[in-house]
Amino acid sequence: MTHRPDRRGFDSLEQELVERESQRLYRRRRLLQSPQQPALHCDGRELLGFCSNDYLGLANHPRVVESLQRAASRYGVGGGASHLVIGHSEPHHALEEALAAFTGRERVLLFSSGYMANTGVITALLDKRDAVFEDRLNHASLIDGGLLSGARFKRYLHNDVDSLRQRLNASSVQRKLVVTDGVFSMDGDLAPLPELAQLCQQQGAWLMVDDAHGFGVLGETGGGCAEYFGLGSDQLPVLVGTLGKGFGTAGAFVAGSATLIETLIQQARSYIYTTSMPPAVAAATLESLQLLKEEGWRRTHLAQLIARFRAGALALGLRLMDSTTPIQPILVGDAGQALALSQRLETAGVLVSAIRPPTVPRGTARLRVTLSASHSEQDVDRLLEALAKVTKEQGVGGE
Ligand code: PMP
Repeated sequence: MTHRPDRRGFDSLEQELVERESQRLYRRRRLLQSPQQPALHCDGRELLGFCSNDYLGLANHPRVVESLQRAASRYGVGGGASHLVIGHSEPHHALEEALAAFTGRERVLLFSSGYMANTGVITALLDKRDAVFEDRLNHASLIDGGLLSGARFKRYLHNDVDSLRQRLNASSVQRKLVVTDGVFSMDGDLAPLPELAQLCQQQGAWLMVDDAHGFGVLGETGGGCAEYFGLGSDQLPVLVGTLGKGFGTAGAFVAGSATLIETLIQQARSYIYTTSMPPAVAAATLESLQLLKEEGWRRTHLAQLIARFRAGALALGLRLMDSTTPIQPILVGDAGQALALSQRLETAGVLVSAIRPPTVPRGTARLRVTLSASHSEQDVDRLLEALAKVTKEQGVGGE
Protein backbone atom coordinates (compact mmCIF):
# COMPACT_ATOMS: atom_id res chain seq x y z
CA MET A 1 0.00 0.00 0.00
CA THR A 2 1.41 3.44 -0.86
CA HIS A 3 0.72 6.56 1.12
CA ARG A 4 -1.46 9.06 -0.77
CA PRO A 5 -2.62 12.38 0.70
CA ASP A 6 -6.30 12.11 1.59
CA ARG A 7 -8.39 15.18 0.81
CA ARG A 8 -11.10 14.29 3.30
CA GLY A 9 -8.81 14.73 6.26
CA PHE A 10 -8.23 11.01 6.77
CA ASP A 11 -4.48 11.49 6.38
CA SER A 12 -3.67 10.23 9.86
CA LEU A 13 -5.80 7.12 9.29
CA GLU A 14 -4.04 6.48 6.00
CA GLN A 15 -0.71 6.75 7.80
CA GLU A 16 -1.83 4.15 10.35
CA LEU A 17 -2.80 1.78 7.56
CA VAL A 18 0.62 2.16 5.98
CA GLU A 19 2.29 1.43 9.31
CA ARG A 20 0.10 -1.61 9.85
CA GLU A 21 1.11 -2.91 6.46
CA SER A 22 4.81 -2.33 7.13
CA GLN A 23 4.50 -4.39 10.32
CA ARG A 24 2.88 -7.17 8.28
CA LEU A 25 -0.29 -6.86 10.37
CA TYR A 26 -2.61 -5.75 7.58
CA ARG A 27 -5.83 -7.75 7.48
CA ARG A 28 -7.31 -8.74 4.14
CA ARG A 29 -10.54 -10.47 3.22
CA ARG A 30 -10.83 -13.25 0.73
CA LEU A 31 -13.65 -13.80 -1.68
CA LEU A 32 -15.28 -17.18 -1.25
CA GLN A 33 -17.12 -18.42 -4.32
CA SER A 34 -18.31 -21.78 -2.99
CA PRO A 35 -19.49 -23.39 0.25
CA GLN A 36 -17.07 -23.35 3.19
CA GLN A 37 -15.20 -26.62 2.83
CA PRO A 38 -13.44 -28.90 2.44
CA ALA A 39 -12.80 -28.20 -1.26
CA LEU A 40 -13.41 -24.54 -1.87
CA HIS A 41 -13.24 -22.00 -4.62
CA CYS A 42 -11.68 -18.83 -3.32
CA ASP A 43 -10.25 -15.77 -5.08
CA GLY A 44 -10.56 -17.69 -8.33
CA ARG A 45 -8.62 -20.73 -7.14
CA GLU A 46 -9.47 -24.27 -6.02
CA LEU A 47 -8.15 -24.81 -2.50
CA LEU A 48 -8.49 -27.30 0.31
CA GLY A 49 -9.70 -25.34 3.31
CA PHE A 50 -8.59 -25.69 6.93
CA CYS A 51 -9.87 -22.44 8.39
CA SER A 52 -13.62 -22.72 8.77
CA ASN A 53 -15.38 -23.17 12.12
CA ASP A 54 -17.98 -25.42 10.49
CA TYR A 55 -16.60 -28.23 12.64
CA LEU A 56 -19.28 -30.80 11.91
CA GLY A 57 -19.75 -30.02 8.23
CA LEU A 58 -23.37 -28.97 8.71
CA ALA A 59 -23.24 -25.53 7.06
CA ASN A 60 -24.26 -26.89 3.69
CA HIS A 61 -25.96 -30.11 4.73
CA PRO A 62 -28.95 -30.65 2.38
CA ARG A 63 -31.39 -31.08 5.25
CA VAL A 64 -30.26 -27.85 6.91
CA VAL A 65 -30.44 -25.95 3.63
CA GLU A 66 -33.89 -27.36 2.89
CA SER A 67 -35.22 -26.37 6.32
CA LEU A 68 -34.02 -22.85 5.72
CA GLN A 69 -35.71 -22.72 2.31
CA ARG A 70 -38.98 -24.12 3.63
CA ALA A 71 -39.12 -21.68 6.54
CA ALA A 72 -38.21 -18.73 4.30
CA SER A 73 -41.18 -19.60 2.08
CA ARG A 74 -43.45 -19.57 5.09
CA TYR A 75 -42.09 -16.75 7.29
CA GLY A 76 -40.22 -14.61 4.76
CA VAL A 77 -36.56 -13.72 4.93
CA GLY A 78 -36.14 -10.98 7.49
CA GLY A 79 -37.13 -11.13 11.16
CA GLY A 80 -38.83 -7.80 10.52
CA ALA A 81 -38.51 -6.36 14.03
CA SER A 82 -36.86 -6.95 17.37
CA HIS A 83 -38.04 -9.92 19.48
CA LEU A 84 -39.90 -7.60 21.85
CA VAL A 85 -41.82 -5.85 19.09
CA ILE A 86 -43.06 -8.45 16.57
CA GLY A 87 -39.88 -10.31 15.57
CA HIS A 88 -40.27 -13.38 17.81
CA SER A 89 -41.70 -16.10 15.59
CA GLU A 90 -42.54 -19.80 15.94
CA PRO A 91 -39.15 -21.11 14.73
CA HIS A 92 -37.34 -18.89 17.29
CA HIS A 93 -39.57 -20.15 20.03
CA ALA A 94 -39.24 -23.80 19.02
CA LEU A 95 -35.45 -23.49 18.86
CA GLU A 96 -35.27 -21.89 22.32
CA GLU A 97 -37.31 -24.73 23.78
CA ALA A 98 -35.29 -27.42 22.00
CA LEU A 99 -31.99 -25.88 23.14
CA ALA A 100 -33.24 -25.60 26.73
CA ALA A 101 -34.08 -29.33 26.69
CA PHE A 102 -30.77 -30.18 25.01
CA THR A 103 -28.66 -28.22 27.51
CA GLY A 104 -30.78 -29.27 30.50
CA ARG A 105 -31.39 -25.63 31.44
CA GLU A 106 -34.68 -24.01 32.46
CA ARG A 107 -34.72 -21.54 29.60
CA VAL A 108 -32.80 -20.32 26.58
CA LEU A 109 -32.70 -16.94 24.86
CA LEU A 110 -31.58 -16.49 21.24
CA PHE A 111 -29.29 -13.66 20.17
CA SER A 112 -28.40 -12.63 16.62
CA SER A 113 -24.70 -13.34 17.14
CA GLY A 114 -22.23 -14.59 19.73
CA TYR A 115 -20.65 -11.17 19.91
CA MET A 116 -24.02 -9.71 20.84
CA ALA A 117 -24.84 -12.47 23.32
CA ASN A 118 -21.58 -11.93 25.19
CA THR A 119 -21.74 -8.17 25.35
CA GLY A 120 -25.48 -8.32 26.13
CA VAL A 121 -25.16 -10.74 29.04
CA ILE A 122 -22.26 -9.06 30.80
CA THR A 123 -23.71 -5.56 30.52
CA ALA A 124 -27.13 -6.80 31.68
CA LEU A 125 -25.72 -8.50 34.78
CA LEU A 126 -23.17 -5.94 35.95
CA ASP A 127 -22.70 -2.24 36.49
CA LYS A 128 -20.07 -0.05 38.07
CA ARG A 129 -20.70 -1.39 41.59
CA ASP A 130 -19.67 -4.89 40.45
CA ALA A 131 -16.57 -6.72 39.24
CA VAL A 132 -15.84 -8.97 36.29
CA PHE A 133 -12.96 -11.46 36.23
CA GLU A 134 -11.77 -12.60 32.84
CA ASP A 135 -9.19 -15.06 31.56
CA ARG A 136 -6.38 -13.18 29.79
CA LEU A 137 -7.07 -15.06 26.56
CA ASN A 138 -10.84 -14.57 26.47
CA HIS A 139 -12.50 -13.77 23.16
CA ALA A 140 -12.73 -10.08 22.22
CA SER A 141 -16.52 -10.07 22.67
CA LEU A 142 -16.15 -11.08 26.33
CA ILE A 143 -13.51 -8.45 26.92
CA ASP A 144 -15.63 -5.80 25.21
CA GLY A 145 -18.69 -6.81 27.26
CA GLY A 146 -16.67 -6.50 30.47
CA LEU A 147 -15.36 -3.07 29.52
CA LEU A 148 -18.77 -1.83 28.36
CA SER A 149 -20.45 -2.90 31.59
CA GLY A 150 -18.47 -0.34 33.61
CA ALA A 151 -17.74 -2.99 36.25
CA ARG A 152 -14.26 -3.25 37.75
CA PHE A 153 -12.33 -5.25 35.20
CA LYS A 154 -9.80 -7.86 36.34
CA ARG A 155 -7.90 -10.26 34.14
CA TYR A 156 -6.41 -13.46 35.53
CA LEU A 157 -3.63 -15.58 34.08
CA HIS A 158 -4.72 -18.03 31.41
CA ASN A 159 -6.47 -21.06 32.94
CA ASP A 160 -4.81 -20.27 36.29
CA VAL A 161 -7.26 -20.98 39.11
CA ASP A 162 -4.87 -19.60 41.77
CA SER A 163 -4.50 -16.35 39.92
CA LEU A 164 -8.30 -16.07 39.80
CA ARG A 165 -8.59 -16.97 43.49
CA GLN A 166 -6.21 -14.16 44.46
CA ARG A 167 -8.19 -11.63 42.49
CA LEU A 168 -11.53 -12.81 43.89
CA ASN A 169 -10.14 -12.69 47.45
CA ALA A 170 -8.91 -9.15 46.93
CA SER A 171 -12.33 -7.95 45.81
CA SER A 172 -15.06 -6.87 48.22
CA VAL A 173 -17.81 -6.03 45.75
CA GLN A 174 -21.10 -7.83 46.02
CA ARG A 175 -21.60 -9.14 42.50
CA LYS A 176 -18.72 -10.98 40.94
CA LEU A 177 -18.90 -12.53 37.50
CA VAL A 178 -16.17 -14.91 36.34
CA VAL A 179 -16.03 -15.18 32.56
CA THR A 180 -14.14 -17.65 30.41
CA ASP A 181 -14.11 -19.24 26.99
CA GLY A 182 -14.93 -22.97 27.22
CA VAL A 183 -12.55 -23.78 24.35
CA PHE A 184 -10.05 -20.99 23.67
CA SER A 185 -10.52 -19.85 20.12
CA MET A 186 -6.90 -19.25 19.18
CA ASP A 187 -5.26 -22.00 21.30
CA GLY A 188 -7.85 -24.77 21.22
CA ASP A 189 -7.35 -25.71 24.88
CA LEU A 190 -10.16 -26.15 27.41
CA ALA A 191 -10.82 -24.05 30.50
CA PRO A 192 -10.55 -26.00 33.78
CA LEU A 193 -14.28 -25.65 34.32
CA PRO A 194 -14.82 -28.02 37.28
CA GLU A 195 -12.15 -26.14 39.28
CA LEU A 196 -13.48 -22.75 38.21
CA ALA A 197 -17.03 -23.80 39.09
CA GLN A 198 -15.96 -24.97 42.54
CA LEU A 199 -14.07 -21.75 43.22
CA CYS A 200 -17.02 -19.65 42.09
CA GLN A 201 -19.36 -21.55 44.38
CA GLN A 202 -16.99 -21.07 47.34
CA GLN A 203 -16.69 -17.35 46.61
CA GLY A 204 -20.31 -16.67 45.76
CA ALA A 205 -19.35 -15.60 42.23
CA TRP A 206 -21.32 -16.39 39.09
CA LEU A 207 -19.61 -18.39 36.36
CA MET A 208 -20.23 -17.53 32.70
CA VAL A 209 -18.81 -19.76 29.96
CA ASP A 210 -18.70 -18.91 26.28
CA ASP A 211 -18.78 -22.32 24.60
CA ALA A 212 -18.65 -21.03 21.02
CA HIS A 213 -16.12 -23.65 19.94
CA GLY A 214 -17.24 -26.55 22.13
CA PHE A 215 -20.98 -26.57 21.61
CA GLY A 216 -21.97 -29.33 19.16
CA VAL A 217 -18.44 -30.70 19.17
CA LEU A 218 -17.55 -31.74 22.72
CA GLY A 219 -19.40 -34.21 24.95
CA GLU A 220 -21.04 -37.52 24.20
CA THR A 221 -24.02 -35.94 22.45
CA GLY A 222 -22.46 -32.62 21.41
CA GLY A 223 -23.68 -30.75 24.49
CA GLY A 224 -20.34 -28.94 24.63
CA CYS A 225 -18.06 -28.36 27.57
CA ALA A 226 -20.95 -28.42 30.07
CA GLU A 227 -21.71 -31.98 29.01
CA TYR A 228 -18.02 -32.89 28.68
CA PHE A 229 -17.37 -31.90 32.30
CA GLY A 230 -20.86 -32.84 33.55
CA LEU A 231 -21.70 -29.34 34.83
CA GLY A 232 -25.34 -28.47 35.53
CA SER A 233 -26.98 -25.11 36.01
CA ASP A 234 -25.89 -24.80 39.66
CA GLN A 235 -22.22 -25.05 38.79
CA LEU A 236 -22.41 -23.28 35.46
CA PRO A 237 -25.27 -20.78 35.72
CA VAL A 238 -24.56 -18.71 32.58
CA LEU A 239 -23.90 -20.79 29.48
CA VAL A 240 -23.44 -19.16 26.08
CA GLY A 241 -23.34 -21.17 22.87
CA THR A 242 -22.95 -19.92 19.33
CA LEU A 243 -24.64 -21.39 16.28
CA GLY A 244 -22.31 -20.26 13.50
CA LYS A 245 -19.67 -22.88 14.24
CA GLY A 246 -20.53 -26.50 15.15
CA PHE A 247 -24.17 -25.92 14.20
CA GLY A 248 -23.25 -24.51 10.80
CA THR A 249 -25.86 -21.73 10.86
CA ALA A 250 -25.72 -18.32 12.61
CA GLY A 251 -26.59 -16.64 15.88
CA ALA A 252 -26.15 -17.58 19.50
CA PHE A 253 -28.03 -18.40 22.69
CA VAL A 254 -27.80 -18.06 26.42
CA ALA A 255 -28.99 -20.95 28.58
CA GLY A 256 -29.77 -20.73 32.29
CA SER A 257 -32.43 -20.20 34.91
CA ALA A 258 -35.76 -18.50 34.22
CA THR A 259 -34.57 -15.55 36.32
CA LEU A 260 -31.44 -15.13 34.25
CA ILE A 261 -33.35 -15.25 30.98
CA GLU A 262 -36.05 -12.81 32.15
CA THR A 263 -33.31 -10.43 33.31
CA LEU A 264 -31.73 -10.57 29.87
CA ILE A 265 -35.05 -9.92 28.15
CA GLN A 266 -35.50 -6.82 30.32
CA GLN A 267 -31.92 -5.55 30.29
CA ALA A 268 -29.69 -6.88 27.50
CA ARG A 269 -29.40 -4.00 25.05
CA SER A 270 -28.03 -6.17 22.24
CA TYR A 271 -31.18 -8.30 22.57
CA ILE A 272 -33.68 -5.48 22.92
CA TYR A 273 -32.41 -3.07 20.28
CA THR A 274 -31.81 -5.31 17.31
CA THR A 275 -33.77 -7.19 14.66
CA SER A 276 -34.28 -10.86 15.50
CA MET A 277 -32.28 -13.43 13.56
CA PRO A 278 -34.09 -14.50 10.37
CA PRO A 279 -36.70 -17.08 11.43
CA ALA A 280 -35.51 -19.41 8.66
CA VAL A 281 -32.08 -19.49 10.32
CA ALA A 282 -33.76 -20.63 13.53
CA ALA A 283 -35.58 -23.36 11.58
CA ALA A 284 -32.33 -24.46 9.93
CA THR A 285 -30.66 -24.57 13.34
CA LEU A 286 -33.41 -26.85 14.66
CA GLU A 287 -32.52 -29.24 11.85
CA SER A 288 -28.81 -28.99 12.72
CA LEU A 289 -29.68 -29.89 16.30
CA GLN A 290 -31.54 -32.93 15.06
CA LEU A 291 -28.59 -33.99 12.87
CA LEU A 292 -26.21 -33.48 15.74
CA LYS A 293 -28.22 -35.97 17.78
CA GLU A 294 -28.68 -38.48 14.94
CA GLU A 295 -25.20 -38.42 13.48
CA GLY A 296 -22.78 -39.05 16.31
CA TRP A 297 -20.34 -40.37 13.68
CA ARG A 298 -19.46 -36.77 12.86
CA ARG A 299 -17.83 -36.29 16.27
CA THR A 300 -16.11 -39.70 16.15
CA HIS A 301 -14.70 -39.02 12.69
CA LEU A 302 -13.55 -35.56 13.76
CA ALA A 303 -11.73 -37.03 16.78
CA GLN A 304 -9.93 -39.45 14.45
CA LEU A 305 -8.88 -36.62 12.15
CA ILE A 306 -7.57 -34.59 15.10
CA ALA A 307 -5.46 -37.55 16.27
CA ARG A 308 -4.16 -38.14 12.73
CA PHE A 309 -3.22 -34.49 12.27
CA ARG A 310 -1.47 -34.22 15.64
CA ALA A 311 0.59 -37.39 15.12
CA GLY A 312 1.63 -36.25 11.63
CA ALA A 313 2.47 -32.67 12.66
CA LEU A 314 4.49 -33.80 15.68
CA ALA A 315 6.41 -36.19 13.45
CA LEU A 316 7.31 -33.16 11.30
CA GLY A 317 8.69 -31.43 14.41
CA LEU A 318 6.02 -28.71 14.36
CA ARG A 319 5.10 -26.91 17.58
CA LEU A 320 1.52 -27.77 18.45
CA MET A 321 -0.45 -26.47 21.40
CA ASP A 322 -2.14 -28.37 24.20
CA SER A 323 -5.35 -28.95 22.27
CA THR A 324 -7.60 -31.95 21.80
CA THR A 325 -10.21 -29.94 19.91
CA PRO A 326 -10.62 -29.22 16.17
CA ILE A 327 -8.61 -26.00 16.71
CA GLN A 328 -5.01 -27.08 16.13
CA PRO A 329 -2.64 -24.11 16.06
CA ILE A 330 0.95 -24.47 14.89
CA LEU A 331 3.09 -22.01 16.80
CA VAL A 332 5.43 -19.99 14.59
CA GLY A 333 6.29 -16.89 16.67
CA ASP A 334 7.10 -14.20 14.15
CA ALA A 335 4.10 -12.58 12.41
CA GLY A 336 5.88 -12.21 9.07
CA GLN A 337 6.98 -15.82 9.10
CA ALA A 338 3.46 -17.04 9.91
CA LEU A 339 2.08 -15.01 7.04
CA ALA A 340 4.74 -16.29 4.63
CA LEU A 341 3.97 -19.89 5.62
CA SER A 342 0.27 -19.33 5.07
CA GLN A 343 1.00 -17.86 1.63
CA ARG A 344 3.24 -20.78 0.67
CA LEU A 345 0.58 -23.24 1.80
CA GLU A 346 -1.89 -21.45 -0.40
CA THR A 347 0.45 -21.79 -3.35
CA ALA A 348 0.52 -25.50 -2.54
CA GLY A 349 -3.30 -25.53 -2.71
CA VAL A 350 -4.10 -25.51 1.02
CA LEU A 351 -5.78 -22.67 2.89
CA VAL A 352 -4.73 -22.12 6.53
CA SER A 353 -5.02 -18.75 8.30
CA ALA A 354 -2.06 -16.98 9.84
CA ILE A 355 -3.13 -15.47 13.17
CA ARG A 356 -1.09 -12.48 14.25
CA PRO A 357 -1.08 -9.81 16.97
CA PRO A 358 -3.19 -8.18 18.26
CA THR A 359 -5.48 -11.23 17.98
CA VAL A 360 -2.79 -13.25 19.79
CA PRO A 361 0.04 -11.97 22.06
CA ARG A 362 3.14 -10.60 20.35
CA GLY A 363 5.70 -13.30 19.52
CA THR A 364 3.07 -16.04 19.34
CA ALA A 365 1.88 -15.71 15.74
CA ARG A 366 0.62 -19.03 14.48
CA LEU A 367 -1.02 -21.00 11.74
CA ARG A 368 -4.50 -21.85 12.92
CA VAL A 369 -5.58 -25.19 11.46
CA THR A 370 -9.20 -26.10 12.02
CA LEU A 371 -10.49 -29.56 11.21
CA SER A 372 -14.01 -30.57 10.31
CA ALA A 373 -16.03 -33.75 10.02
CA SER A 374 -16.35 -32.85 6.34
CA HIS A 375 -12.61 -33.54 5.87
CA SER A 376 -11.39 -36.99 4.91
CA GLU A 377 -8.22 -38.70 6.10
CA GLN A 378 -6.77 -37.99 2.65
CA ASP A 379 -7.46 -34.28 3.15
CA VAL A 380 -5.50 -34.33 6.40
CA ASP A 381 -2.64 -36.17 4.70
CA ARG A 382 -2.61 -33.55 1.96
CA LEU A 383 -2.35 -30.82 4.58
CA LEU A 384 0.53 -32.66 6.28
CA GLU A 385 2.37 -33.07 2.96
CA ALA A 386 1.97 -29.37 2.21
CA LEU A 387 3.17 -28.48 5.71
CA ALA A 388 6.20 -30.75 5.31
CA LYS A 389 7.09 -28.99 2.08
CA VAL A 390 6.62 -25.37 3.14
CA THR A 391 8.14 -25.66 6.61
CA LYS A 392 11.22 -27.30 5.11
CA GLU A 393 11.52 -24.54 2.50
CA GLN A 394 11.21 -21.90 5.21
CA GLY A 395 13.31 -23.67 7.83
CA VAL A 396 10.57 -24.07 10.46
CA GLY A 397 10.37 -27.17 12.72
CA GLY A 398 11.73 -30.39 11.33
CA GLU A 399 14.35 -31.01 14.03
N1 PMP B 1 -16.96 -16.28 21.24
C1 PMP B 1 -15.91 -16.91 20.69
C2 PMP B 1 -15.01 -17.70 21.58
C3 PMP B 1 -15.69 -16.84 19.31
O1 PMP B 1 -14.65 -17.44 18.77
C4 PMP B 1 -16.59 -16.10 18.52
C5 PMP B 1 -16.46 -15.99 17.01
N2 PMP B 1 -15.24 -16.09 16.47
C6 PMP B 1 -17.64 -15.44 19.15
C7 PMP B 1 -17.82 -15.55 20.50
C8 PMP B 1 -18.59 -14.58 18.37
O2 PMP B 1 -19.58 -15.35 17.82
P1 PMP B 1 -20.36 -14.84 16.54
O3 PMP B 1 -19.47 -15.13 15.37
O4 PMP B 1 -21.63 -15.60 16.51
O5 PMP B 1 -20.56 -13.36 16.72
